[in-house]
Amino acid sequence: MLIVEMILSREKSHFSAEDIHDELNDRRHVISLATIYNTLHEFSERRIIRTINILINKTIYDRDIGNHIHFIVEDTKLILDAFGKAVLKSPPICPAGMEIAYVDLALQLRF
Ligand SMILES: [Zn+2]
Repeated sequence: MLIVEMILSREKSHFSAEDIHDELNDRRHVISLATIYNTLHEFSERRIIRTINILINKTIYDRDIGNHIHFIVEDTKLILDAFGKAVLKSPPICPAGMEIAYVDLALQLRF
C-alpha cells in the first residue's frame, strides 16, 4: 500500500523504480526493487501511470497519462514535458483503416 501511496502522491511527474526505491529507503521501508517494478508495471497496464520509451537505459514512468511529448536533455537525461500541441495537431498520416491510439514521442536536446 505504501508503494501505491507514493506513486499516486508524487508531485514530480517523471520517475523511475529506483527513485521510488530510494524514497522508501529514506523512510526506512525495505521493499524490493522487483516488487516496485511489478507495481509500476501493473499501474502502467491499468493506465494509472504511463511508461515512457526513451533513449536511456532505464524505464521512466509518468503520472501524466495524457498524450504529450517529452524533451530529453542529452547530457543530463533530464526529462521535461513539452508544452504546445503542434505535433499532435498535425500527426503523420496513418495506414488505411488505422488511427493513432497513443502518442509517445521524445525529442532529445543538447546545449
Ligand atoms: Zn511527461
